[in-house]
Amino acid sequence: MDATPSYLEQLIAGGLLLPTGVAGLYGRSQIFERVVEAIDALVTRTGGGDGAEVLRFPPGLSRRDFEDSEYLKSFPQLAGTVHSFCGDERAHREVLRCIEVGEDWTRDQAATDIVLTPAACYPVYPVLARRGALPEAGYLIDVQSYCFRHEPSLEPTRMQMFRMREYVRIGTPEQVTGFRALWLERGEALVRTLALPHIVDVANDPFFGRAGRVLADSQRVQKLKFELLIPVNSTAQPTACLSFNYHMDHFGQIWKLAGRDGATAHTACVGFGLERTALALFRHHGFEPAHWPSPVQSVLWPSA
Ligand code: AMP
Ligand code: ZN
Repeated sequence: MDATPSYLEQLIAGGLLLPTGVAGLYGRSQIFERVVEAIDALVTRTGGGDGAEVLRFPPGLSRRDFEDSEYLKSFPQLAGTVHSFCGDERAHREVLRCIEVGEDWTRDQAATDIVLTPAACYPVYPVLARRGALPEAGYLIDVQSYCFRHEPSLEPTRMQMFRMREYVRIGTPEQVTGFRALWLERGEALVRTLALPHIVDVANDPFFGRAGRVLADSQRVQKLKFELLIPVNSTAQPTACLSFNYHMDHFGQIWKLAGRDGATAHTACVGFGLERTALALFRHHGFEPAHWPSPVQSVLWPSA
């Protein structure tokens, strides 16, 4: 038997993550949150001069917008829907009886109009589409949200509920690809200042099923997704901590996002996994931020 505690076990023993009994669902300690907030603020300092519009959404999407987004075509395995009790008193007694005897009590739960946000940028497109034609300069949006993905795992980097900080660009193909190229540079420079080993590589999303294989291959061939990967877990596989996505006109078509000339908008987003980047820092610099290399501390807490 392997006696070495896994990274997850170390994080729990060190008090950084608090187990709930569900894989991928954790409480965060004060130190963990301090680091997450510092990464978030560092992203703001990096992109803050660009004049992005700040938008914040609760971690839920309208079910209608979620259906329109075609998420279920590509990632049915990851989606989480919010259900609620909608029955009468008899049905209520039945729920309590089921819990009492350990039977399934969820039969009378009905879908609400809310679906859990799968990626921080999803609520942005429909909201902006409702504003009408795009302004000349397009949009640059700053979002951050808790996201849900149904991918229970014992790797601490693969959570079911986690935060994603994103910048989203909506505009012409030139505006959008320029944005992504800029953030590929900025993202790597940011991670370098945190003294984290990393590589940037072409990637694909986990499209569902056999047809998904074709979509994943085409995404790679067209280099639509890049990831910045950092070794975090005990496994040999490094973890994607930042993503750089070019959706071409996929969301523009779905949401009818278009300029005044009628040309369908292209979109791109850069996503920072806040927990993953924090976990990378704890992995490489230890569990005590006060003992991290001083250049790293100065980058994260410049006024301290
Ligand atoms: P993606 O939309 O899959 O490219 O995700 C954007 C970013 O969110 C990734 O680069 C990760 O840093 C982070 N992320 C994705 N899935 C998870 C997860 N299950 N747990 C924690 N962070 C995640
Ligand atoms: Zn996004």
